[in-house]
Amino acid sequence: MTGRFAPSPSGRMHLGNLVSCLLAWLSARKQNGRMVLRIEDLDTARCPRRHAEQLMEDLRWLGLDWDEGPGADEPNGPYYQSERTGLYQAALEKLSEKGLIYPCFCTRAELHAASAPHREDGQVVYSGACRKLTAAEIARKKRSPALRLRVPPEEWGFMDGRLGTYRENLAADCGDFLLRRSDGLFAYQLAVVVDDAAMGVTEVVRGADLLSSTPRQLFLYHLLDLPAPKFYHGPLLLAPDGRRLSKREADAGLDQLQSQTPEEILGTLANWLNLNPSGEPRTAASLVSDFDWSKIPKENLFLPTDCSLKKPE
Ligand code: GLU
Repeated sequence: MTGRFAPSPSGRMHLGNLVSCLLAWLSARKQNGRMVLRIEDLDTARCPRRHAEQLMEDLRWLGLDWDEGPGADEPNGPYYQSERTGLYQAALEKLSEKGLIYPCFCTRAELHAASAPHREDGQVVYSGACRKLTAAEIARKKRSPALRLRVPPEEWGFMDGRLGTYRENLAADCGDFLLRRSDGLFAYQLAVVVDDAAMGVTEVVRGADLLSSTPRQLFLYHLLDLPAPKFYHGPLLLAPDGRRLSKREADAGLDQLQSQTPEEILGTLANWLNLNPSGEPRTAASLVSDFDWSKIPKENLFLPTDCSLKKPE
């Protein structure tokens, strides 16, 4: 069994990121599995190396170790996505040979103006405007295009280990999605599938904000003939007003919690996750035997208003 952390270090980790890391680590360690750390820094401008280094220091401080990745064994490296673009290009070519990719010249304004429905997560379902462009029309375009995957009107679903069945109709709920942006950056959806498969990951544990990405990813596993892992989407830790925590605003960032010991932080998070009823300080290793997915709350968690580490209401 192989689990992984796949953080995008665009700032210091916050407690919400830490909840996802802790769950991934506990689930892997409970199964005597291996842990991979992969740095998702495709957007290198937003994810400079110093953030990745800080993240690794924070994980080590908390006792959340990894067997493969920077500073550990590197059998399937490199472990920085910014250094793996050749693999994403090869996957793109494979999909292109199947005739599933087309260039999209739509501007951001055009995408938002189109009357296509917006998803709950704020993403736009692409109207398919560029699907019909002829080769001659494409040749006349001056801008460099983004690349999209043509999706069929098919239901793709899976059994999430925490939340149960989740399915989407790819065409209606999701639309033709981006594989490469017009500035050449590969999309998360493609990179994450290529990498989890290449790194032998058998279990993906991440935040519930990525639940709706999973049908798209399963479709990519299928098209690329890769084995799909098992998925668990853990609870999100939300701000007291229900907002998503943000690294940029340094909400509940680890830098605000430096006066706490790792054991105090983990003991409280484990309490919120129903793994540590007393809320007493705990090491990561001591929590492994208490971990079980059946105990993990089915609802999201809310940070207490004073942002100190007390049990949420
Ligand atoms: N890099 C993504 C993030 O930090 C997570 C990717 C994943 O776990 O699939 O939001």
